[in-house]
Amino acid sequence: MQSKTLCKICNTPCKHVFNKIIMTKYHNIKYYKCPNCGFLSPETPFWVEESYQKEAISIDPDRLKRNIYVKNLIMKLIKNFYTDDISILDFAGGEGLLTRFLRDENYNIFNYDKYSESLYSYEYNIKDLNKNYDLIISSEVLEHFSAPDEELGKILQYTDNYFFTTCIQPENDLENWFYLIPDNGQHISFYTTNSLAYLAEKYNMNFYSDLWWCHLFTKKDLGDDFTIILPDQIVRQKLEFKIFHRMSFVSNSNNALKKNLSKTGRKSFKKYRILNSLYQRGINLLDFEWRNLYGE
Ligand SMILES: [Zn+2]
Repeated sequence: MQSKTLCKICNTPCKHVFNKIIMTKYHNIKYYKCPNCGFLSPETPFWVEESYQKEAISIDPDRLKRNIYVKNLIMKLIKNFYTDDISILDFAGGEGLLTRFLRDENYNIFNYDKYSESLYSYEYNIKDLNKNYDLIISSEVLEHFSAPDEELGKILQYTDNYFFTTCIQPENDLENWFYLIPDNGQHISFYTTNSLAYLAEKYNMNFYSDLWWCHLFTKKDLGDDFTIILPDQIVRQKLEFKIFHRMSFVSNSNNALKKNLSKTGRKSFKKYRILNSLYQRGINLLDFEWRNLYGE
């Protein structure tokens, strides 16, 4: 008898939605989606260790550009909601690019990465997590977690403010979503705003998100001011709607959570649809924002 695959976020039995070939050689790998929070993950990812033996940079040519983009977002976030002298940790910061960029701007940032030599930030690398930081950031990390709830719990022990990027699932055509990257095998956890909201609720934090890529878990109440960190006018003027959207789920009641989640889910999907239509027209959303940011 086959045991049920439970959601790694909310523990609900998941539904098998499609199969993929991983790393061009592991066939018929099943992907499961949670009917409650929407979280998606492949079956037990036995290939992960092997996947990191490949040259990651070869399939991630946007790495530099993305780090500059995130640096600008972090600077806006700090300028508007924190102070310049806060302690910051880049969790799983890879080669240390983001730490380098923010150090160059005089921020008090350190880099932590269990698996990388972090060449660019070697003076500011830390070996162990053993102290608190005012802000922890992670760029493109959560989709690599094999046990997201557990990993997130560990990070949140050390901060009340966690800013991270990970792409939110599209509403349609999930099977062909670019972010699955099955050939590479390293992306194994895929979130919805509801699954992130569920985690924020669990850790008693406010959740702010652009409903697409950038997210903040925080004990602070930022109100609607969070829209200030928008990179440019892409959403405010061109698309004429707010990409950043506040979601607050500080509540211990499961019923309240359910109510909030279903309410948020509807709002999220409505707003997502506009971005998704861009994506379906072949516009790479990340590039679209970057181009806009640098005024091409
Ligand atoms: Zn779930």
